[in-house]
Parts: sequence; C-alpha cells; structure tokens
Amino acid sequence: MASEFDLIARHFSRAAPGDILGVGDDCALFPVPAGMRVAVSKDLLIAGRHFYPDADPEAVGHKSLAVNLSDLAAMGAQPLGCLLGLALPAVDDAWLAAYARGFHALAQASGCPLIGGDTTRSLQDLTISVTVFGAVPAETALRRDAARAGDDVWVSGALGAADIAYRLLDGQLPADAARLALTRRALEWPQARLALGLGLRGLAHAAIDISDGLAQDLGHILAASGVGAELRYAELPRAPGLEGLDEASLQRALLGGGDAYELCFTAAPAQRQAIVRAAQACGTPVSRVGGIVAAPGLRVIDAQGQALARIPGGFDHFGGAA
Ligand code: ADP
Ligand code: MG
Repeated sequence: MASEFDLIARHFSRAAPGDILGVGDDCALFPVPAGMRVAVSKDLLIAGRHFYPDADPEAVGHKSLAVNLSDLAAMGAQPLGCLLGLALPAVDDAWLAAYARGFHALAQASGCPLIGGDTTRSLQDLTISVTVFGAVPAETALRRDAARAGDDVWVSGALGAADIAYRLLDGQLPADAARLALTRRALEWPQARLALGLGLRGLAHAAIDISDGLAQDLGHILAASGVGAELRYAELPRAPGLEGLDEASLQRALLGGGDAYELCFTAAPAQRQAIVRAAQACGTPVSRVGGIVAAPGLRVIDAQGQALARIPGGFDHFGGAA
C-alpha cells in the first residue's frame, strides 16, 4: 500500500507518554511495574460481522478498543498500552480520521496509549484487531477458575440494552425509534469497567466480562471453577429501554444478550459491604444476582421461585443464536 507510512503517520502516530517507546521503531518498549504480571488480550472485529460497515467510524474506533479494555477490567488489570492491526480494503481517509479519533480518545481517557500495530491492504472485509497489555498482581488477578460454592454472584451496571439495540437495527424486533434511542449508546459506545476491576482486586474471587451473554459467560466461570450457580431472574439489573418488551425478548436480552461489557464476578458473602464501597468509589452500580453452588449447572429462578425451563444461552459465534 503506497500510502501506508503516511497513513500511519497521519492517524496513528501519537507521542507515547512517560518512558514508553511507541509507534516508529521495530518494536514498542514499555516498562512493566515491579512484581506484576503482564495481562494480554486480543479481539478481532470484522465489518459486517461485528459492526455494520456503515456504522459511525468514531464509534467503531471507540468500541474496538473498549472491548479489549473490558478484558483487562475482567482480570483486574491496569492498562499499559495497546497495538492496532488494520486490514483495509480501501483507504478512506475521512473514515480513518474518525476511527482514529474514537480510538485515541478512549486510549487517552483510559491510560492505554497506542504503541504500535500493523496496517495492510485487505482483499476482503475491513478487519480490525486490537491487542491490549495490562498489569496485575499474580495473587489478585480475577481468574475464571476461582469461584467457590457459597460465593455471591454479582453483575455491574445494567443488562440488555445492547442486545435490544442490535435486534432493532437488525430488524429482528419491530422498529421503535424511542426504544432505539434509549439503547443504541450501549451497543455503539460500550464502557469498559476498568475502575471496578481494579477495585475488586483482593475482594472478588472470579470475574468475566459479559460479551456473549450473562448465561454463557457465567457458564465459563462455572466450567473453569467446577461449580454451579443459581441466578434470581427478578434481580438482574435492567437497562433503560427494556420496558414493555415481550417476556421472551426480555429474557433473551438479560440472560443471552451479548455486547454488554459489564462484569460478572463472584465473591464471598463476607465481602458484601467492601464490594458496595468499592463500587461506589468508582461510581459503578453493582447488583447481587445469585449464588455459586457446588452442584454443576446454571439454574435461573423466577419471581415465583420456579426454575426457568430454558435459559437463553447467548450467542455462539460458530453455531448462531441459541
Ligand atoms: P514493520 O515493517 O517493522 O512491521 P511497519 O512499517 O509495519 O513496521 O510499522 C512502522 C511503525 O508503525 C511500527 O512502529 C508499527 O508498530 C507502527 N504501526 C503500523 N501500523 C500501525 C497502526 N495501525 N497503529 C499503530 N501503529 C502502527
Ligand atoms: Mg508491519
């Protein structure tokens, strides 16, 4: 690509803060805080699959970093920096400028500078790959395999908005401009719960971020920890914009809805007050929605005390909607 270097210089070179060697050399160099493990995660986003090709490029820039920061949050890690891989079918300078604006704004706000990447011409769809690096003490990393029977199950923020916005835009739900206005931001501008993740170090046992739906993502904690869980359906925090939905859509949004980027975590009941204080300190609401049990499997109990016969299972990237 003839203009590759120009393009990088124009949109992606930013002075790296502190003693980081950023964009421009063969590798980036960043210091690792003493005694910490480096937490690393990568996500791939493909136009037409993970975002609409005509989506606001500034929002795509934001979201492509936010979904990775969410993985750092779910580990209790503090961001150190990130890499950006772009495979572009064509060079659209206005699109790239807006994309970079969304990306850099979040990078700066979350202390996660862009320190390198790779840019190439794609023969197919626009593809974006972001890799994040963070730091976390080995002992207090929030791992998926650390849930224990007797733990509470908690969820941050509110659930369901991104799923409903997606289904409205995709035509799976009847057009409803008022509902779309209430839910769209959650889909396009997700906020990673970084401050909460840091606050939960030493308090929570296991954590995961909800990218594929609460049922499926909590399921990963259960499988890794060798335990089960019981969720209280009525206590799942509902996002604004879900009022008046039919029950099936509501259940699917709350239990199966992806793209939430809230944290689901488990902690001993003795930590309840400390968790509420930590959540208040970072301005992130948290809700206690169930408990971990020894017997494997997930049960969801409704307001009448009955177990749901079928739990919407979230989205499986290879199998389609459950
Ligand atoms: P190399 O040939 O060593 O892979 P490149 O020419 O691909 O180097 O990249 C030159 C510099 O620009 C490197 O520091 C690289 O990390 C950075 N870079 C390339 N693409 C991006 C991008 N999309 N975002 C941020 N930095 C990038
Ligand atoms: Mg390269």
